[in-house]
Amino acid sequence: MYGVVEGTGFEVIDPRFEGCFVGHARVERLWTGARWSEGPVWFAAGRYLLWSDIPNNRILRWDETDGNVSVFRQPSNNSNGHTVDRQGRLVSCEHLARRVTRTEFDGSITVIADSYDGKRLNSPNDVVVKSDGSIWFTHPSYGILMDYEGDRAESEIGACHVYRVDPATGEVAIVADDYLKPNGLAFSPDENLLYIADTGATHTADGPKHIRRHKVAWDGTLSGGEVFATCTEGLFDGFRLDLDGRIWTSASDGVHCIDSDGVLIGKIKIPELVANVCFGGPKLNRLFICGTTSLYSVFLNVNGVSPV
Ligand code: MG
Repeated sequence: MYGVVEGTGFEVIDPRFEGCFVGHARVERLWTGARWSEGPVWFAAGRYLLWSDIPNNRILRWDETDGNVSVFRQPSNNSNGHTVDRQGRLVSCEHLARRVTRTEFDGSITVIADSYDGKRLNSPNDVVVKSDGSIWFTHPSYGILMDYEGDRAESEIGACHVYRVDPATGEVAIVADDYLKPNGLAFSPDENLLYIADTGATHTADGPKHIRRHKVAWDGTLSGGEVFATCTEGLFDGFRLDLDGRIWTSASDGVHCIDSDGVLIGKIKIPELVANVCFGGPKLNRLFICGTTSLYSVFLNVNGVSPV
């Protein structure tokens, strides 16, 4: 378990990256056996990680105390991205049910959003909760384009937007409507900035494969939206930030670390295509990496933003 996993390692592109990792720390493959790993989320109190195996219609659970992996929920409605809210509850995107849900303390499931203006959402992909309790999510069409990770269906909305759910009223509002395939999203540590990935290159020649950066107003209004970084290997899917504002993002050759000025400073090489990451462990200095069939992790010399 603690040996060298072939095809893994750190790649320094800019000297700034040298202080971000521990030289002798190694990438571990914690588990393998999924079809498409996505949506990792860390539960500090329970010392476990949940993640989605989307085509297998299940949420898996890795236990930090003994390393065991079990099925947390099946069927999972082909869940994709997850996060935790400020109360520690699981918030999930579901392709099949085309909704965002919250798992309550008693295990019951509350629907947070399943439609906009009377029309069903496409297939919510990734989600983040702001400290004011607002819930922000993307809904590209990947879960309704084919039967592999949802049910094939026509889009009722006819576009792929980014939405915000008001914490007081539950109202679902569009906050960005100029994305082709909005995907991963995360706030800066001070929540003044919101980063959103666009993976439109999956379906459009020369389409976007970048992360854009927006300013966030107190009322949830976004401004700006310039391209922050363009992916050099595959696509940026899900990502998280560390406390210093660096972005740790998925890419086809592993994890790319992008500093707050948009410069790619280094990589964690992974031998499978990476879809998403999150920080975990009691110090949030351990990066969990969803790489297609496997769950990987590596200890870093940075700490993630909490909650994850
Ligand atoms: Mg995604």
